[in-house]
Amino acid sequence: MKRRIILLGPPGSGKGTIAARLQQEFGLDHVSSGHLLRREVENGSAIGQRSKLFLEKGELVPDRTVLKLMGEWMKSVPLEDGFMLDGFPRTLSQARALDEWLAARNAPMEAVILYNCDLAIVLDRITGRWSCPKCGRVYHIYSVPPEVAGSCDDCSVELTQRADDSEPVVRKRFEIYTRQTRPLAKYYRQQGKLTVVEAALSPEERFARTVAALN
Ligand SMILES: [Zn+2]
Repeated sequence: MKRRIILLGPPGSGKGTIAARLQQEFGLDHVSSGHLLRREVENGSAIGQRSKLFLEKGELVPDRTVLKLMGEWMKSVPLEDGFMLDGFPRTLSQARALDEWLAARNAPMEAVILYNCDLAIVLDRITGRWSCPKCGRVYHIYSVPPEVAGSCDDCSVELTQRADDSEPVVRKRFEIYTRQTRPLAKYYRQQGKLTVVEAALSPEERFARTVAALN
């Protein structure tokens, strides 16, 4: 089984759920650059201080900072156990740097899975997401609706929406994602490593196709 992989897909494409299952069933470590960056911010490190403003504004953290962070992460792990990269690489220069690091350790990237998702699905999934400000329970107006519209089943508190789940913000994030991903998809397709999985498929089917691509 291929164990060094990259997951590409817009927010709302369901790749987080698939990553969690791959981690559970195959022991692949799920490495999210966003998660690593937020941890640096919390720790107040030099990288965290440089990234904070970009993250708060929803902008891309500059290549140099991201490469430093991910380069350090890579040095700290045994590559033969495998990993799933999520959120990295985002640019061609990041992808090339990653290939160089892996080549230097004789452990090339093995597969890249792209969860193809159109804007309508993303909007549907994300903007329908509401949560309880008191207990944190997450609902979805179509797939997991509360018993009483707009109110938490457990606390009867009015549900709220995360600021970055609003329609204009989701549209913006999707545009940025699409612009960034096109050259990356081409880069990995030319290497013969890209598999496209349609995000409109059922969760079961998406997982099955992912596993098939890794075998
Ligand atoms: Zn609640």
